[in-house]
Amino acid sequence: MSKCQCNVMSKINNDIKLDFKDVLIVPQSSTLKSRSEVDLNRTMKFKNSNQEYCGVPIIAANMDTIGTFPMALALNKHNLLTTIHKHYSNDEWKQFADQHPDAIKNVAVSSGIGESDFTNLSTILEEVPSIPFICLDVANGYSDLFVEFVKKTRAAFPDRTIMAGNVVTAEMVKKLILAGADIIKIGIGPGSVCTTRKKTGVGYPQLSTVIECAEVAHELGGHIISDGGCTYPGDVCKAFGAGADFVMLGGMLSGHTECGGETIERNGKKYKKFYGMSSATAMNKHNGGVAEYRASEGKTVEIPYRGDVDQTILDILGGLRSACTYTGSSKLEELPRKTRFIRVTQQTNEIFQQMEVDN
Ligand code: 5GP
Repeated sequence: MSKCQCNVMSKINNDIKLDFKDVLIVPQSSTLKSRSEVDLNRTMKFKNSNQEYCGVPIIAANMDTIGTFPMALALNKHNLLTTIHKHYSNDEWKQFADQHPDAIKNVAVSSGIGESDFTNLSTILEEVPSIPFICLDVANGYSDLFVEFVKKTRAAFPDRTIMAGNVVTAEMVKKLILAGADIIKIGIGPGSVCTTRKKTGVGYPQLSTVIECAEVAHELGGHIISDGGCTYPGDVCKAFGAGADFVMLGGMLSGHTECGGETIERNGKKYKKFYGMSSATAMNKHNGGVAEYRASEGKTVEIPYRGDVDQTILDILGGLRSACTYTGSSKLEELPRKTRFIRVTQQTNEIFQQMEVDN
């Protein structure tokens, strides 16, 4: 082999990496009589915080349109989690905790990695000590600064369960778990309002990264969140089937009453604005504009108003229960073990897509 061919081979990994749309789950024989027998609650013990959690491990993303207090209340009814966005004041946190103490068990407080972020995080946790989860969230979880911040947060809050991300490769999952994180947030570029792949060329297909990162996290006693890229309940099922312990949703929860962001009325129809946290809309709102040295890596869209989120949640949970029965999993916990994927060239029949009146 020529030196030139060798260089090309080491520069390109020729294994095909897959997304949710590239696979389907193969059904298996089952003794389950009804979907209602399926238990979607999972109990987990976290490696570094030593805390136990029991709930349905679907999480509303910490975007300011999605990770709102009203969303947390709606999701808590079904025992789902919400990572609350980082733009609420201490007083708003305190008021929420005072009025809804039962909902706190299913929320995370979010933080970036600046000095002021750490101060805000500490103040909120002082005001509301019952918050069980901290979500340390940066677009690029590969910086040494981020790893140091995880260590500092672990030292300061030894009994809080720390979610940290985002990353997409096994070696970084390992580094973050060893730095003190419990649950690693996996996903770069799959999000519905993310433009990172277009702006930077960086990313990793979501199904493959979940399979690869789950393996190393579980070997170490850690957990992972599949964050971004779910467009239908079936994608949530595939993410769990691939080994995700939690699945985080943004776009699938957008457009509802509980969402933040502007409501727009046009020609008698209502829409809700939904945008990426690195979009120009978010940066204008929270950072006084897009700094000259960076590009926005998110977009803004208008979602036709979809009413209360409750029906959407029931639809997702119904799909998940059904996937469990198709694979013979009496508990969500069994789904990864029972899941076999096949690669496909087409997953659905789109013939009447434009004519749908109900789905
Ligand atoms: P979705 O469920 O909408 O496909 O993905 C939600 C995830 O997209 C979020 O949890 C977050 O990780 C990611 N995200 C949110 N806003 C942005 C953004 O502006 N840019 C990028 N690159 N990712 C974003």
